[in-house]
Amino acid sequence: MSDVKLEDIVSLCKRRGFIFPGSDVYGGLSGTWDYGPLGVQLKRNVMQLWWKMFVEDRDDMFGIDAAILMNQKVWQASGHVDTFTDPLVECSNCHGRFRADKIDTSKCPTCGKTGTFGEPRAFNMMFKTFIGPNQGEELTIGAPIDADEENRGRVDLEGRKAITYEPSSVSYLRPETAQGIFTNFKNVVDTIYPDLPFGLAQQGKAFRNEISPRDFVFRSREFEQMEIEYFVHPDQWEAEFEKWVKAVHEWCKALGLPDDSVHELEVPETDRAHYSKRTIDFEFDFPIGREELLGLAYRTDFDLQNIQRVSGKNLEYRPKDGSAPFVPHVIEPSFGLERAIMAVLSAAYTVDEVNGEKREYLKLPEHLAPVKVAVSPLLKNKPELVAKAREVYTMLKKEFGNVMWDDNGNIGKRYRRQDEIGTPYCVVIDFETLEGETADTVTVRNRDTTEQERVKIAELVAKLSK
Ligand code: ATP
Repeated sequence: MSDVKLEDIVSLCKRRGFIFPGSDVYGGLSGTWDYGPLGVQLKRNVMQLWWKMFVEDRDDMFGIDAAILMNQKVWQASGHVDTFTDPLVECSNCHGRFRADKIDTSKCPTCGKTGTFGEPRAFNMMFKTFIGPNQGEELTIGAPIDADEENRGRVDLEGRKAITYEPSSVSYLRPETAQGIFTNFKNVVDTIYPDLPFGLAQQGKAFRNEISPRDFVFRSREFEQMEIEYFVHPDQWEAEFEKWVKAVHEWCKALGLPDDSVHELEVPETDRAHYSKRTIDFEFDFPIGREELLGLAYRTDFDLQNIQRVSGKNLEYRPKDGSAPFVPHVIEPSFGLERAIMAVLSAAYTVDEVNGEKREYLKLPEHLAPVKVAVSPLLKNKPELVAKAREVYTMLKKEFGNVMWDDNGNIGKRYRRQDEIGTPYCVVIDFETLEGETADTVTVRNRDTTEQERVKIAELVAKLSK
């Protein structure tokens, strides 16, 4: 269990411009969060790291970027229309609504009354929307499947119970990015014909109408996923699954998460999603307790078979050695960006003492820090210091991009401010930079050790690139 308090992270994030409550100026909108200047940079750094590790650095992975709005058949065929539900209970006294599997239903967590909950009902978490101007259409729900004229175009999920029929204008905000990958499997194979096994990776928004969004960005209604569908020969899934277990641990390491704070939970069959034959939840010791950071699931050929059946298109892969075609099986590592950010912040949040004073800072891995280096003239009213500092700033900005100019307050305050947002280095241009033996050197101050060293300007880029 982490000894960091969630409220310390939430307050630092708001105070320093990482993450704000969504629609804050109008009193907020539950389950939504906005990223400020530092937050968006942190988020991009995490996304870029993921893309580099799992797409750019590998030969067997390819990127895709599918539309958020998809044909409703996608969500019928995938089973989401029928089964993407959470158990909802409502308190008969205060009318508070909760997820039955997340609370003790003998007593209402809001009003404290006992025995106020009835049987849970299945609440579908997809956000429904209408495409085009025909919003008035009636919904027909749960009609039995039938091959007659009236039911033409509707979807039959063999062997599975209810079908939910919708008018053609209905669509959903995607509750996962995965389906955008599956529906493009054929396009990718037909165009670039990769060797198997290969994977398709996608980053993007997902939406779930969570019954009770909570715990900062951990459970949001709008969030970002980074997902991979890795297509394998059915005989190979176990070996490939093990490789992904290792790859996930490497990812956690790259995020700066201590090894002993990441745990594998083998999900028992009764708790697995309907499509999965094996799932490991990777849990992290968040300030709110040990909770799911990301999931790794063996989805069999469930999705491709469904699409094949419903679309009538052949999704078999033809091996290049001429052996028999088959529908590939899939291993899916599914990463939540917000949970990654929350884990990174929790692992980085540190309190220590410097010169007898409490210091609160983010010990972020350098490759994730929103500001790589801050540049300051020792005094902002000395034009010769400012001019030299501007030169150094311009040079570093060209090289690293995320470089901040900081000349506010005294140097101690600047260090504290930069520490608090996790800036690994502060470069200061002082009078020694301008003359004598130390001409053209600057001080570089290290966030973690607070030590300073003099470095030649000409060697600065190399020094900071390490
Ligand atoms: P949980 O059990 O916590 O609701 P889940 O098992 O439904 O999560 P998946 O469907 O496996 O989650 O989604 C994959 C990943 O997407 C999760 O591991 C998580 O990182 C992220 N994720 C899912 N739901 C949310 C949410 N409401 N807010 C933020 N991230 C989420």
